[in-house]
Parts: sequence; C-alpha cells; structure tokens
Amino acid sequence: MGYRGRLAPSPTGFLHLGHAKTFWHAQERCRERTGQLILRIEDLDPARCRPEFCDAIVDDLRWFGLRWDEGPDLGGSFAPYVQSERRGLHVAVWETLRAGGFIYPCACSRRDVIEAAGAPHGDDDEPIYPGTCRPKHDGSIADSQREGVSWRFRVPDGETLRFLDGNSGAQNAVAGREFGDFLVWRKDDVPAYQLAVVADDHAMEITEVVRGADLLRSTFRQLLLYRALGFAAPAFCHAPLVTDASGKRLAKRDAALALRTLRAEGISPEAVRTQTCSGGL
Ligand code: GLU
Repeated sequence: MGYRGRLAPSPTGFLHLGHAKTFWHAQERCRERTGQLILRIEDLDPARCRPEFCDAIVDDLRWFGLRWDEGPDLGGSFAPYVQSERRGLHVAVWETLRAGGFIYPCACSRRDVIEAAGAPHGDDDEPIYPGTCRPKHDGSIADSQREGVSWRFRVPDGETLRFLDGNSGAQNAVAGREFGDFLVWRKDDVPAYQLAVVADDHAMEITEVVRGADLLRSTFRQLLLYRALGFAAPAFCHAPLVTDASGKRLAKRDAALALRTLRAEGISPEAVRTQTCSGGL
C-alpha cells in the first residue's frame, strides 16, 4: 500500500502559523513519497466547533498552497471529509471496545477528575484519572448504555509503550504513570478525540500521522486503541510547536499570527512559507 497522509484540523478558530508549518510539512512528506493526502475536519466538539471556521480553514489551506487528493468532488477540487458525518463508524468502534472489556462507564466530571488528580500532567490536557469508577476486574460491561455517562479505556498499568517518532526518534511512556485511563466517549454522547481519530485514521488507511508535538502523549493512548481493536498502527511524526516572540505556544485565540491576518496584511503565502517552513522541522 502506498503512503497516505492526512491534515486533521479542528474548526475551533482560525489557522495560525503553527498549523501552517505542520500541514506544509505533512504535505511535503506525502509528496516526497508520491502519496495521497486527505483533509478531515475534526468537528466533534459541539461546544467549541463552528461551521464558519470550517469554511475559513478550507479557504486558508488553499491560499497557503495546500492541496488534498480525495473527498467529495467539487468539480476540480475536493471537499474535506467531515468527522461528525462518520458517527456510525465511531459507534461501531465503541461497541467493539465495550464487548472486548477494554472500556468502562465513568460518572466523574472533568472537574471531579482535576480535583482528585491534582494539576494536569505537564503540557498534556488530560489529567491522570484517579480510578474512581474503574471496575476492580477486567471484563466486558454487558448491559450499560452508552448515553448518560462517559466511557474510559483501562490502560495496562506499569506497561511501557514505545514508538519511533519520524521527527524525534524513540519515545516511551509508562501507562498508569505518565498517562491514565482516558476518555473514549463523552457524557454528552459525542465520541472522544482518541476514539474518533483512531477509527478514522484506520478507516481512511492512513500510513503516517504528521501532527503537532502537543499530541505526542496522545499517541501512546492511540497505540493502545489500535492494539485493542486489532488494527495495525500508522507511523507517527510530531512537529515541534511554533512559539511567539515571548516563547509562548501559538493558540487559535491569538489573532496576530493567524493566516487570515497575514493574508489581510498583504503578505504572500510564499513569504510565509519561506519564513516558517523552510529548513524542515
Ligand atoms: N484535530 C486535532 C487538532 O486540531 C488534531 C488531531 C490529530 O492530528 O491527530 O488539534
């Protein structure tokens, strides 16, 4: 099978230079390997995603010089794949995990977890789950409903997970110590990021995931999902995050380095690329 890569932005704001750099790198890696690139809009979080950002993202990506090779035909170009339209697949994956005894229902709110677990782990947004709702024994939860509670994956405590990152080399983390039982389904009946991204990357036959280093720790969680589901995992390559002049990581709420802003200021995509993307990662 040939190389297949993906761009997977979330429509929670405008794209900034950090996204541009990572996506450009993803496109370069794909072109060097004469692969196929897809665009998938990850719009599952109803509280944070907005349709106007979807359109802006597609527009900004095109302006920046990014092209993708698949998707609904627009006559000469392709529309993105949209994650919220793929719910049937996400539900099927949840069911496989449940039937296999890999996940359990959890009544804790995010606030409960933060209060019980203390500060979040480093940069990672998900605090280590203290195990409040974790069943004493492994085994499938037969008749629980998906709705009304969240669902967590039980990590194999003490096991060291490893992968070779395409940018930063050998990586490892100990389950239960560096990351804990993580969400696969949210209480508001929305698939959690970890489940949806694995279900979609597998179904879309992605061979290498190129994304920002903020998701490096999530790779260990995703490797556990690939294993539980019996799916072969893709390769992973995490790009260093772009920081602003004060060394702070760029966020979607900072308008100054948004592609929109640079474009409105008359800066060309070539100039942005030369400044941000040359010299590899
Ligand atoms: N949609 C995620 C984000 O914008 C990226 C997911 C991924 O690349 O795995 O942060």
